Amino acid sequence: MKDQLVDKFLEKYNQQPTASYFAPGRVNLIGEHIDYNGGLVMPCAITAGTWLLLAPNDDNVIRFSSVNFEGDQIIPIEKSYTKNGNDWYNYPLGVFHELQQFDWLSGGLDLLYFGNIPIGSGLSSSASIEILTAYALNDYYNLGHDKLELVKLSKRVENIFIGLNSGIMDQFSVAFGEANKAIVLNCDSLKYKIVDCDLGDYVLAIINTNKARKLEESKYNERYEECQTALKTLQTAININNLCELTAEKFALHSHLITDETVLKRTTHVVKENDRVHLAAKALNAGQLEEFGRLMYASHQSLRELYEVSGKELDAVVDFCKDYEHVIGARMTGAGFGGCAIALLKKGQEEDFAKKLTDYYVDKIGYPAAIYVHQIGNGVGKI
Ligand code: ADP
Ligand code: MG
Repeated sequence: MKDQLVDKFLEKYNQQPTASYFAPGRVNLIGEHIDYNGGLVMPCAITAGTWLLLAPNDDNVIRFSSVNFEGDQIIPIEKSYTKNGNDWYNYPLGVFHELQQFDWLSGGLDLLYFGNIPIGSGLSSSASIEILTAYALNDYYNLGHDKLELVKLSKRVENIFIGLNSGIMDQFSVAFGEANKAIVLNCDSLKYKIVDCDLGDYVLAIINTNKARKLEESKYNERYEECQTALKTLQTAININNLCELTAEKFALHSHLITDETVLKRTTHVVKENDRVHLAAKALNAGQLEEFGRLMYASHQSLRELYEVSGKELDAVVDFCKDYEHVIGARMTGAGFGGCAIALLKKGQEEDFAKKLTDYYVDKIGYPAAIYVHQIGNGVGKI
């Protein structure tokens, strides 16, 4: 991969790259839509990701180019930037904005990106390119930030520069992921554990519904607001800072305060999903993969019925998995409304699964899904 990109870099910028970096995508195994409610989540990094090659220039500009997108950009060096339409380079530009290049960027910089994560499919290509850029600049120019600062700064890019109220999970898993490990992360305290993720006789299949996203960003922010409404209502009676501080018992005692039926459904999902992550972590630790799979199905059902962020495409994939004998658990992963599902699939059944799921999905939805098997990989680094 890197060699091909070096050739492209040379062709585009007429010079050799002087450093290169990689950042993965991520899947969330369980704990969905609770990171922005201070909940427990269990993501892992995957071996698909984004590459960045760079070299300084003497032209006092930042040149952005991506193999994945048309439209190279030449940006003058300034102290701050604002988002420019919906162009792809806003994500790395936001990182430059956050790092405020007062004096560290003398001359300029040529950048070339390439990613093999399907973009806009819930595997967090956005966190990948943010963390990749932040890590690379921090390393190359010795800016002295630690990884957690880079995570927080990249989250601000997504929240403020781009305008999506997402939680910290994506940037965190892209930065801190490790091969064959999952991260159990408390999104409130940011305390985390790296745990073994031994899938035994199973592989993690990723199924991209190939559904074009339209509504996701506005719906995402709508769910965020619904949770904020629930929190404010409950805070009139109990002392909590976020919804995931609610135990099932505490919630049962106070749920009557939430009179809006929709808000009540959202809150029920949040509280129960947070519990499921605790159970899933225990199951994984004990090697009880079937229990883990059962919790994945329960998570999906809750996202479908209570949080209402699934859709007919994701449901078709999960429904197929339930009836397919070699899958023990499946669920949507990421924000939903399309994007990807994951499934725990028996090793050796990859081809049969892909064929049968493709037939089923095309029949139901009208176009094929894409099926990949990626390994659980390492977080961001220099290559
Ligand atoms: P995802 O679910 O993949 O995170 P988003 O809509 O949040 O989807 O982010 C996708 C955006 O991230 C792209 O539209 C683009 O702006 C940026 N991006 C991600 N990967 C790349 C890449 N390889 N090259 C250029 N831009 C990228
Ligand atoms: Mg994203």
